[in-house]
Amino acid sequence: MLKGLWQTLKSMIFEKPITIQYPEQKRPVRQRFRGRHSLKRYDNGLEKCIGCALCAAACPADAIFVEASENTDEERYSPGERYASTYEINMLRCIFCGFCEDACPTEAIVLGDNYEISFTDRPGSIYTKDMLLDATTAKPTPQVTKPGEFTKAVPVMKDPSD
Ligand code: SF4
Ligand code: SF4
Repeated sequence: MLKGLWQTLKSMIFEKPITIQYPEQKRPVRQRFRGRHSLKRYDNGLEKCIGCALCAAACPADAIFVEASENTDEERYSPGERYASTYEINMLRCIFCGFCEDACPTEAIVLGDNYEISFTDRPGSIYTKDMLLDATTAKPTPQVTKPGEFTKAVPVMKDPSD
């Protein structure tokens, strides 16, 4: 018993407290942490998501709903023929496995390091495209583009053997 009490006393005297004053102070997440999703854009502001729904197909929890529509040069959201007109993730279902990220051919959906995703009702658990899409400092979508400028939906890989 004395040994145990000494252990407690020792940690009280010599060890620094490890309590973190959240939310004022935030602990950095691990390198491979998977948090809240976001939909990325290219530097020119166009959305990387092309509405292919591969992420939805790969999702083991059936948490993603994607509906695609046609791009035109007068109203372009993403390179290629189609864009995601509806993109929703049901956060009540998501298990943060990252399969959606792995399946995406354009690296549009990314699980970041934000873990502050609380909600208080069921409708609040549905993250819509507006909530997921990155804010842009470049031109927002839709954009008017030159005919034939953005015909490829998936960018050419820098190193195809990668
Ligand atoms: S992280 Fe996993 S469970 Fe969550 S939406 Fe992506 S594929 Fe589905
Ligand atoms: S996030 Fe990626 S996989 Fe999902 S619909 Fe968009 S382009 Fe396709």
